[in-house]
Amino acid sequence: MTDNNKPDDIDNAQNTLDDGKEPNVELSSPCKTPRPKDAKADPNFTNTLSLPMKTIRQTNKALEELPSLTAGGEEAMGSWLQVYTAGFSHYQAGGSFEDSLNREGSAWRQNVKAGEMKMGIVKPRVAASADGAKLSGDSALFKIGNALGLGGTLKFPLWHSGIWLSIKDPGESPLLAMERKIAEQKIVLGRQSNGIAFSSVNVYTRRWWLEVAFSSIYDATYTNRNMKALMKVIKITDAPLIAWGLLCTIHPNGFNLAQACVADIHKCQHVVEELVNLSKLCWTDNNMLSDDQKQFMSDRDKRHNFQDIEKYQKQFSFNNHDKIQINENLYMTFKVPTIEEYLVSGERWVDSIVDVVERGMGSGLSDAIKDQYISEQGRATTLRQYAAWIDKLYIDEGEGNFSIVEDRETIDLACDRFSAQKDICDLIFKEIGKFIDLATFSIIGIPTYNCPACEKPQTDQESKYPTIIPLDIEETFFTLVRLKVIEIINRTNSIKDPIS
Ligand SMILES: [Zn+2]
Repeated sequence: MTDNNKPDDIDNAQNTLDDGKEPNVELSSPCKTPRPKDAKADPNFTNTLSLPMKTIRQTNKALEELPSLTAGGEEAMGSWLQVYTAGFSHYQAGGSFEDSLNREGSAWRQNVKAGEMKMGIVKPRVAASADGAKLSGDSALFKIGNALGLGGTLKFPLWHSGIWLSIKDPGESPLLAMERKIAEQKIVLGRQSNGIAFSSVNVYTRRWWLEVAFSSIYDATYTNRNMKALMKVIKITDAPLIAWGLLCTIHPNGFNLAQACVADIHKCQHVVEELVNLSKLCWTDNNMLSDDQKQFMSDRDKRHNFQDIEKYQKQFSFNNHDKIQINENLYMTFKVPTIEEYLVSGERWVDSIVDVVERGMGSGLSDAIKDQYISEQGRATTLRQYAAWIDKLYIDEGEGNFSIVEDRETIDLACDRFSAQKDICDLIFKEIGKFIDLATFSIIGIPTYNCPACEKPQTDQESKYPTIIPLDIEETFFTLVRLKVIEIINRTNSIKDPIS
């Protein structure tokens, strides 16, 4: 991370692989570092983030063999099992984006290069104050935070939307309040098994953490910086980047990391303990952005109006895809919803389920039966979790004519109908999944790692051009918030009450 708005030193050499091709992924600064010698040991991993060491596909063998190993008693497995299991929850559902990272012609980098400039997360510039200057408000808190070595303010690009955001560390109380809301949440739809990112199943949880994030926005390169206006222009594909940016402000100095070896779980149960540098985990496919778009983003301070941003967003090639044929008479096109469109559509779906259940069952039933009914209703209307991604429906009227459906309520009702027909539903899921993979070109992930205890060390080539494990950064965010809550509780318990 650079300390100001000056571009990083640029390395202009065009790197190519042995076969002369441009590498799909290239690492320019390390994502992990050894823990400092004087770092406090954390034997129970209470202040440690566990992440996977290999991609979900590379882990399949370990997963299959796990029952034979745990048969000897989970106690004997010690910390390996704890770290392995905890790491597993950070995978993207269904291995989303693993293919995107190997896509022919992609160039995933930790920055976006535009001419002499490298664009990525930075500490915003704050001018030094004169001797005796009186400070108050945000700028004072910003400087106090820096002086204490606490989380600060960071500025980072939202590539899918065309906006730079500055976010400040939200502090502990909004995170505590959010954690409590999530713990008390009544409606749980459960993970649906289609394995695509951006489902609406957790739409309420997503709204709560987004509200914490948007309340922590310090600045943005959009003319209207209130929460509602920003949600109407920022794309849902940038939500993971916002979660990541928020995490970087909370833990600017990195975080304890543990990774469990999965090379051969019968032979090696090594756990690697290091520090993860969160700010290095964002990867953007440089080749998805036009020169115009890079130019548009190259001024980190200039505010743009809605028309300018809309123009930036419309330039992506995935917007111009052909109509997808659903059956002989029916076609559809997709779009990337804004955060607002995504939340409204998802909440309409979840609320309609709760409505149906409450009207149909009254209040006399147990919570367990009610939950089961809610889950069933969720599955019966499963396509609704992606309704916001459908732009238009086209009905073939013969002789090359199509009628068009674009009002949201009709599209919702159509999604309910499609959900009841397995073949059609599966086809639409598959196509939406492909679209989401293409439209998401800035993602959070960590390179795979060779276990130092049982595998050959990584070659220079492997370290420089790594395989990336896409992370469910929202899950990582919640994990770190839970660790913080535990830390706060421990801290509060250790303060003696002077009255008792
Ligand atoms: Zn090993």
